[in-house]
Amino acid sequence: MNAILPRGFPPFRDLKDRLARTRVLIFDVDGTLAETEAIHRCAFNAAFREFGIAWYWDHGTYKKLLRVTGGKERIRAFNQTHSTSITLSRLEIAELHRIKTQHYSRLICKHACRLRPGVEALIRNAVARGQTLAIATTTTLSNVEELLSVALDRDWRSLFAAMVTGDEVTCKKPAPDVYLEVLARLQHPADACLAIEDSANGLKAASAAGVPVLISRSEYFRYDDFSSALAVVDELTELV
Ligand SMILES: [Mg+2]
Repeated sequence: MNAILPRGFPPFRDLKDRLARTRVLIFDVDGTLAETEAIHRCAFNAAFREFGIAWYWDHGTYKKLLRVTGGKERIRAFNQTHSTSITLSRLEIAELHRIKTQHYSRLICKHACRLRPGVEALIRNAVARGQTLAIATTTTLSNVEELLSVALDRDWRSLFAAMVTGDEVTCKKPAPDVYLEVLARLQHPADACLAIEDSANGLKAASAAGVPVLISRSEYFRYDDFSSALAVVDELTELV
């Protein structure tokens, strides 16, 4: 059992009970439901090649860029800080991101991306218990659809009572917008919910909306500061 429960957090068994008794579970997608970031990085690099620009994001570069949420925002941030030979317009960034999304879809299918351990069991158990499920993500709707239709179920949408994606809000995480919108759609108070996230930006977003956060540590954000989280686990298998 690797759950980290500092600061006098509730005992582990109480955490499992709380997870089971919480009315609404709100899931982040990238890094939380599946380790998708490596596929996102490959898709960006494929898009750069297709678009005809000599950019390549290696693992270290991408890890730093992940501090910027949203694909278009990430491209813009890189362009502003790393490249003096080309300045992409807003329309060019949108087109580049569209191409990237196509490559992401192709790569998700090609690699048959799987959910992280414990995710499907947690979702199935929660549905059986009558808990409400939701998604709050800054990725695009098409990316969520590609991932979950491959990794979870063709009818995955019926499992979630609300889903808010990055296309639908003004400000992406760490701003609380996606969480506030989920709460508004579900008409549940924040303290009746539990967010499941993998990054400091996700933790900040949910916390700013008043939603307690369980962290499932992922490859890219493993060493973020999670000191304000309710608890931290390495895998959700620890709680199902
Ligand atoms: Mg994430």
